[in-house]
Amino acid sequence: MPALVFRLTNEFKDRNKYKQIKKIKVNEAKMDKKYDFNKIEKETLGFWRKNKKQIYDSFQENNKDKKPLFSWLEGPPTANAPPGLHHVEARVSKDLVCRYNFMRGFAVPRKGGWDCHGLPVEIQVQKKLKLKTKKDIYKFGVEKFINICKKDVFSFVKEWSDMTERMGFWVDLDNPYITMEKNYMESEWWALKQLFDKGLIYKDYKVVPYSVGCESPLSSHEVALGYQDIIEDTVTIRFEAKEDIYKKFPELEKGKKLYYLVWTTTPWTLPSNLAIAVKDDINYIIIETDFSDKKKEKAYYIIAKDLLERYFPDKNNRKIIKTIKGKELENLGYKPLFNYFKDKANSFRFILADFVTTEEGTGLVHQAPAFGEDDFNICREKEIDFVNPVDLEGKFTKEVIDYNGRFVKDCDEDIIKRLDKEEKLFVTYKVKHTYPFCWRTGCPLIYYAMNAWFISVSKFRDKLVKNNNKINWYPESFKQGRFGNWISEAKDWALSRNKFWGTPLNIWVCNNEKCNHMEAIGSIKELKEKTGVEVNDLHIGSVDPLTYKCPKCGKIMKRTPEVIDCWFDSGAAQFAQFHYPFENKDLFKKRFPYDFISESIDQTRGWFYTLHVLSTLLFDDLSYRNVPVTGLLCDENGEKMSKSKGNMLYPNDVFDKKGVDSVRLLMCS
Ligand SMILES: [Zn+2]
Ligand SMILES: [Zn+2]
Repeated sequence: MPALVFRLTNEFKDRNKYKQIKKIKVNEAKMDKKYDFNKIEKETLGFWRKNKKQIYDSFQENNKDKKPLFSWLEGPPTANAPPGLHHVEARVSKDLVCRYNFMRGFAVPRKGGWDCHGLPVEIQVQKKLKLKTKKDIYKFGVEKFINICKKDVFSFVKEWSDMTERMGFWVDLDNPYITMEKNYMESEWWALKQLFDKGLIYKDYKVVPYSVGCESPLSSHEVALGYQDIIEDTVTIRFEAKEDIYKKFPELEKGKKLYYLVWTTTPWTLPSNLAIAVKDDINYIIIETDFSDKKKEKAYYIIAKDLLERYFPDKNNRKIIKTIKGKELENLGYKPLFNYFKDKANSFRFILADFVTTEEGTGLVHQAPAFGEDDFNICREKEIDFVNPVDLEGKFTKEVIDYNGRFVKDCDEDIIKRLDKEEKLFVTYKVKHTYPFCWRTGCPLIYYAMNAWFISVSKFRDKLVKNNNKINWYPESFKQGRFGNWISEAKDWALSRNKFWGTPLNIWVCNNEKCNHMEAIGSIKELKEKTGVEVNDLHIGSVDPLTYKCPKCGKIMKRTPEVIDCWFDSGAAQFAQFHYPFENKDLFKKRFPYDFISESIDQTRGWFYTLHVLSTLLFDDLSYRNVPVTGLLCDENGEKMSKSKGNMLYPNDVFDKKGVDSVRLLMCS
């Protein structure tokens, strides 16, 4: 029997259906002695191309109401780059399960989807148009820019569709959901308004992982996508004590200097140092030594007792003076390393903090409130002034005049050299550690305090865990492991992006700072009621000009300029694909929660996560019941395939050489 018919009869075992199939005229392949997969696959493809719709209609649509439902949700790919072989893998997994359940007699709706917003498109368009900065985009015209993005999104949609068809993924690409369409975005606005009205969206000054390449903060699940092992300079600095400690401990001789040893992996944050944190019950030790001093002068050093051996291993060159508790250091002062902020209130003193440990470093922790979450919180609590001498491009501002205009990470070396020259450096050495990089632009992330909008996810940890317990993960270890761990420590979702190509954050804010009234607008109708204008598009070009009178003070309500994280877009697919709740409420109720989704492991902190968060916050329910997680494709050296490494395989090349069937078989085995 020719392979084609064999395949069909296998799929449509039901005799009546088989009869229907036979009515379709098949150009049967002649029996060859040699199995020529290229020829057979080409013919099979031709058959499907011709008859797909008819088959789909007769088997799927006609009986769909009588059949039990198996609901599946497509994780939308982005079509602005060509598909790689790894995309085939997840698609095989989806196709296999959907087909199997279809053959078991279920109705399996197969709506495709496209993820449209986000930085890759924006960056690509900026490059094409040679628009370097935000100002350039404003000059060019925001609406014009958005319209070009809309077209650019689909620059590789044909490659995607061809690959999808050729590999035999039975999905409906004629009626996909599209995350940049008006209806889809309106559903997102509805969801955002729900969250805002429940008080779950807030704005705060907060230390966020920040990408200078994108000029935007990243959410924690995005950060998790870009960790790399790197070797970096770490420095141990000696901060010179003020007089006060000599008064406190009279056994110290005034003629000898006393230094506090402080360790950091980010030398560029040292100009912003405002305090040193110690823990009240940790033992610190005061010793006398000339170790590491260039002039071999004897001086006192203070370090956590547990770390003495690491820094001063030579027993013959250290005289132990005294052991004290961290609490005794509280409020003692030290001399600033640099002059930039020497007049800041309450600064350059010891504060007590619980996060201090003796695991690494010296047990005395450098505090720069703008560049660390712990630093920010404790300095705010201790009423230490806030400084942030770094601009949105990651460059030092005039406040740090010596490095003004330079990218902070590029200043590490110069700062180390200078501290060495000024005899403030105790030791520097290289350490291999894991550091987050921007998963888009590859630039090292910095932790940075800025104003941003957040969704209160952390409040819902218990519910996230409870809903996760109802999900079947394959492999099972994901439930408690990779995914379970992640959600049990879920952070608030950094929602806003300071970009153009995205769903606009639908919060209007009064321009009278004293009033600061805010409202979320949840639909096109509501926007019309408030502004008198009915829009045809919800992108910033259309909605940003729309303002209205503040109901509280009469001044002007203007939209906050940010767009939202595109992971919110794809996470919203579970309801936005139906234009819920404006349309298709019944359909949504039937399909949700989904019986099945399947994507690769790198979605654990991506799509799997955002679906789960949004279903929990909006519907207090799980989003999907079963989720097989596919692996990553690696090259012969075990390295993950990626475009940037140049080790990608492209589906068509592999299909030509090995055949679609064997690739599919490999990927489901
Ligand atoms: Zn970035
Ligand atoms: Zn107002």
